[in-house]
Amino acid sequence: MAGGNDERRILSRRRRGTDRGSTLPVPQRTPLAVTPPTPRTRTAIAVSPHLDDAVFSAGGVLALLARTGWQVQVITCFTATVAAPCPFALSTQLDKGLPADVDYMALRRAEDRAAQRHLGALLPTHLPLPEAPHRGYDSAPRLFQPPHREDTAETDLRLLLGPHLAEADIVLAPQGIGDHVDHVLTARAVAAAAGHARIGWWRDLPYAARTSMPDAGPRDGIAEGTSEVTVDIGTVLAEKSAAVRCYTTQLGFQFGGSERAAAGLSAMARSEAARAGAPYTHGESLRAGPAARQLLKNYAQEATG
Ligand SMILES: [Zn+2]
Repeated sequence: MAGGNDERRILSRRRRGTDRGSTLPVPQRTPLAVTPPTPRTRTAIAVSPHLDDAVFSAGGVLALLARTGWQVQVITCFTATVAAPCPFALSTQLDKGLPADVDYMALRRAEDRAAQRHLGALLPTHLPLPEAPHRGYDSAPRLFQPPHREDTAETDLRLLLGPHLAEADIVLAPQGIGDHVDHVLTARAVAAAAGHARIGWWRDLPYAARTSMPDAGPRDGIAEGTSEVTVDIGTVLAEKSAAVRCYTTQLGFQFGGSERAAAGLSAMARSEAARAGAPYTHGESLRAGPAARQLLKNYAQEATG
């Protein structure tokens, strides 16, 4: 009630011309200098299943975008520290030579922050979902089987990713080549949370390089409305290599050791360029929707199909 009386008093003073503001001289308007509008900063968000996938698979594209003024950020989905892991989950840490009392995921989150600096990306976002071995996928073969019906990770991810992806000009995400369940669920969640047109789907490395079908297509529903775009990453190969080498806990498993990482990465990039028939030596390929393809065209060679 008091507020209502105050509002009425103010309105009454204004009608009587007693409001102090009404007695001040009207300032002269000075013409505004005409400045050309500054172009809006473009934003790229890469959605990585694990703490390394985006850099392994699309680190070159991300470094190129950052170099030319884009705001680049990597969001990694499965990064939670889990207390008292099951024996299989713990074995994925012990087989990297890390004792059981080390916070394995904290180490990997720190590796990821260091890697993003080499790419010129913003500080990464780490979503608090647990990796598949903590969600009932309790053996190596089960990691590569279809998602369990009771696994809520896809729904959880859709909700968590939605606000992050809403304003992005381009969203990069895994095709799911190799069928790792976390990659498949990430791909499904991104497809649901972002329009297909602005998504560029990367070929999951090193799975795509290992598979017996190196040109294996993307997972169900991803290819719709997309075509392959191959990007020359030769000028940013050093940045990508430096970023990859930050994932020290993973290099033995993924590349056979840190000293082999740069050579392995370069070989994969050569293989990708050759597979796409590109006129340059080192490439990364994406299946891109129309809007994503348009934005990448400065960097890209388009393939047919
Ligand atoms: Zn992964």
